[in-house]
Amino acid sequence: MRTVGIIGSGPAGATLASLLTMKGVDVTLFDDGRRPDLIVGESLIPAIVPVLRKLGLEERTAAICQHKPGVTFTFSPEEQVAFCFDSLSGSPMPTYAYNAPRPAFDNLLDQRATELGVKRAKVRAKIERVNGTGLQLAAETLEHAPWFHGRQPDLLVDSTGRGRLFARTLEVPAEIGPRKDVAYFAHYEGFADPMPRGQVIIGRLARGWCWRIPLRDCLSVGVVLNKDDAVQFGATPEERLEGVINHDPLLAAAGQGRRRVTEIATYTNYQLVSRQGHGPGWVMTGDALGFVDPMLSPGMWLALHSAELLAERLDNLPAYSREMRKLIKAWMGLIQYFYDGRIFAMYKTGMFFEQKFPGRISETMHDFFNRKIACMASGLTTTSRFGHGMLQIMSRPAAWKTDPATLAIR
Ligand SMILES: Cc1cc2nc3c(=O)[nH]c(=O)nc-3n(C[C@H](O)[C@H](O)[C@H](O)COP(=O)(O)OP(=O)(O)OC[C@H]3O[C@@H](n4cnc5c(N)ncnc54)[C@H](O)[C@@H]3O)c2cc1C
Repeated sequence: MRTVGIIGSGPAGATLASLLTMKGVDVTLFDDGRRPDLIVGESLIPAIVPVLRKLGLEERTAAICQHKPGVTFTFSPEEQVAFCFDSLSGSPMPTYAYNAPRPAFDNLLDQRATELGVKRAKVRAKIERVNGTGLQLAAETLEHAPWFHGRQPDLLVDSTGRGRLFARTLEVPAEIGPRKDVAYFAHYEGFADPMPRGQVIIGRLARGWCWRIPLRDCLSVGVVLNKDDAVQFGATPEERLEGVINHDPLLAAAGQGRRRVTEIATYTNYQLVSRQGHGPGWVMTGDALGFVDPMLSPGMWLALHSAELLAERLDNLPAYSREMRKLIKAWMGLIQYFYDGRIFAMYKTGMFFEQKFPGRISETMHDFFNRKIACMASGLTTTSRFGHGMLQIMSRPAAWKTDPATLAIR
């Protein structure tokens, strides 16, 4: 039987361990079990639900997570566009998603691997480079898995997230994204609840953007802005997060009675994708392979889906890497429409025509467009050439009424 050693029991690693074990593969998870109390990645997209069902975890997920009906984008204090996943009805995609308290959700995925009989080596794993482009577990790490009897697993998987253990060890270069953002976030009580209940709010700010993600007992509030802009709000993460909230009319109004109930977490330099996803006897999953951007929240699904895809393509790593690269590229393309203002310009132009020519044709166009965007942002048709082609065609006339540059996210 083939032996697989997975390093890192975050969402990607734990999911892969479970799915491979279900297929009868002999899997060992290397992880020391330490997780921070506050982790980003709370807003999930509908495409994650089928993976949770495959793992037998949807009921337990629903018990700890907030039901998420959709996402509202506010592109100015007066203008917003709401996507509700129920516009996906009739498609194979669930018409909802979840907002997940990360440590508890990660524990669920991790516990599931244990329930299914995955072997555990409780250690922060170390690896070494061999024969130029190969990798092996360091002897002191292998000792924590005595069932290997000193032999290396047939396949090593990097699921160490932003630690990017294999890429760092092998000095695999990364494609770095264009944005030089920093994100600050924390949990709050006393913030006004977004409506409908569970709706995620993504807000365009004078500088950067922000998220409001309702969890069951608090609201996750994050701000994302250019590093140079961030320093203008103060020296500490607290000054910067609070400064941005106070500066934005919508956030300030919603957060009048707020009380921060966690520390503030800071994330930087996250838009990067490894140029190589696999090599002799090794492969990367989740963030260890690449992370696109938090806008549209594809990260957790990409992590779980990379596990799903790898479990299917275990004997064809090039095909796995190719497919993941295609997905990552498609998400990057879609997200760019939000950053450069084209999506908001399309909406403004659409609204103009709806007001000027009210009636069935305008409504049908509006519903069609909403459904297409919801399908792409839910994960259902993100790679669809038709979807991307349609966006490209529709974004040109959208500029008739509004210059997208005026709606871009700085
Ligand atoms: C600002 C920001 C906002 C985000 N918001 C969202 C969002 O709203 N929705 C969303 O879906 N995604 C979001 N993401 C992305 C999401 O957080 C990640 O895509 C997701 O956590 C990736 O999961 P993973 O399993 O690949 O990595 P991780 O969650 O990082 O897990 C890696 C695991 O490996 C372990 N590990 C590391 N090194 C070792 C080692 N040497 N030995 C053993 N174990 C090791 C770690 O302890 C950890 O448990 C966001 C990301 C950022 C930066």
